[in-house]
Amino acid sequence: MVKKLLKIFSLTFACTLLGVVSRLDSVEAACDPTVCLPPKCFCPSINPPGGLTLDKTPQFVQITFDDSIQPNTLKVANELIGKRVNPNGCPIKGTYYVSIQYTDFSLVTQWYAAGNEVADHTMTHPQDPFDDEIIGNKQSLNAFAGIPNGKIAGWRSPFLNWQPKTFDIIAQQGFLYDSSTTALEDDATWPYTMDYGLYNDCWKGFCNQTIHPGLFEIPMAAILDDQGSPHLMDPYLDGPTDTVKGWLQNNFLRHAKQGKTPFGIYVHPAHLYQIPGTPLAPNTPDPDASLKMLEEFLDWALAQPDTWVVTSQQLLEWMKNPVPADQLKTYAPFSCQVPKIGKEICNGLDDNGNGQIDEGLLESCNFNTVVWSTCYGCPSENPSLANPVPKGGDRFHVPTTCDTVWWDPIANQCLCQDANCAYTDLSKPAGLVGNSSDPNNSNGNNNNGNGNNKSGKQNGASSITGLNTLTLIPSFIIISTFMQWIL
Ligand SMILES: [Zn+2]
Repeated sequence: MVKKLLKIFSLTFACTLLGVVSRLDSVEAACDPTVCLPPKCFCPSINPPGGLTLDKTPQFVQITFDDSIQPNTLKVANELIGKRVNPNGCPIKGTYYVSIQYTDFSLVTQWYAAGNEVADHTMTHPQDPFDDEIIGNKQSLNAFAGIPNGKIAGWRSPFLNWQPKTFDIIAQQGFLYDSSTTALEDDATWPYTMDYGLYNDCWKGFCNQTIHPGLFEIPMAAILDDQGSPHLMDPYLDGPTDTVKGWLQNNFLRHAKQGKTPFGIYVHPAHLYQIPGTPLAPNTPDPDASLKMLEEFLDWALAQPDTWVVTSQQLLEWMKNPVPADQLKTYAPFSCQVPKIGKEICNGLDDNGNGQIDEGLLESCNFNTVVWSTCYGCPSENPSLANPVPKGGDRFHVPTTCDTVWWDPIANQCLCQDANCAYTDLSKPAGLVGNSSDPNNSNGNNNNGNGNNKSGKQNGASSITGLNTLTLIPSFIIISTFMQWIL
């Protein structure tokens, strides 16, 4: 009883600390699955969508990567993604939450052109991002990496430090989902919509400051070790390699039994390579051994029944149309079609098959201390918060009527010839709100919505100052671990 009271006290304390107020006592009371109906509304649940039985439900795995895309980080991501295939023979896919600072735009184009997902993770990775960070990221990625505005549909808060205001912005900007909240066991649900607010990180019921109908939340499910303590991002930093591999396998099997809820591996690639000539910090696991362990785990997971490694957008697409596992090999959203263009154009692919991507077609943009490449022309200055899309360059940005892989930015031409590859970006351009959007202005120097309201931080999740991105432990995990220790 004392233990129970202590736990209730701790959860109440945590909820108060996080600045959120519970609205209702249980999911069932708050979100009625006979009212909240797919494909527009999903209640949080550990049961598979569409009434699928466990034996008909695929086990999804998500691999996500965070922060800037540079040659070394992309190499790590491709080591994990590039060599492996799903049951339909197509390469597995990952989601990269990209921050602009230190990113090479041409590598983002390559990641996207290979069929992976690009998501928003701010311009400069601050503690409390406001609209300029979120909108500027989309505008820069659209302009200089050529990613269609409507395909940048996901968001992760730096340091997982979400606030209610964050969700206001991404909802206003037309994002499809957030993946910044954390889950232990009972709340490691399938993705759900925020029609009744966030369920994760709220400790009891829903957070009523975060009601955004139709906006998905994809909870980040922690890895529980043999003592039940949670490990979220970069779990390979938290124990001997073989031990962590055992945690991953045990947790994967736990998910498979508990509603086949999606299993996640959340990676900062910077931990998985060593810069030549730079010694490792004391007590740092060998990056090569960690990467090898993750590869071995993925090979093991893909050998388990009906396992699919998918992007976040693929996962949500499947939720709206939950095709049984035995029919997934012909499920179009999981298929892989490589464009056959026949000549090398600057689109992130090796179009002529000679082993070199965008051979001789990239522009190298040198801004003294910052150098990156792009297919879409060097602007007059490096993109910044004040000006995420500087003018300049003589290349043509991807229009709203063509997808990246088919667009020739030098010839100003869409090479898609039939309905199978046709793409029209119907999303509103980043930064524009309401019905006043002008799709033709999506590549312009548009800073609408870049309000200078940094002093307006609301009472959301607690700030986690003093921790850098590579060693982040969300505040709730600190609280949770602490409470497990004293209980
Ligand atoms: Zn980050």
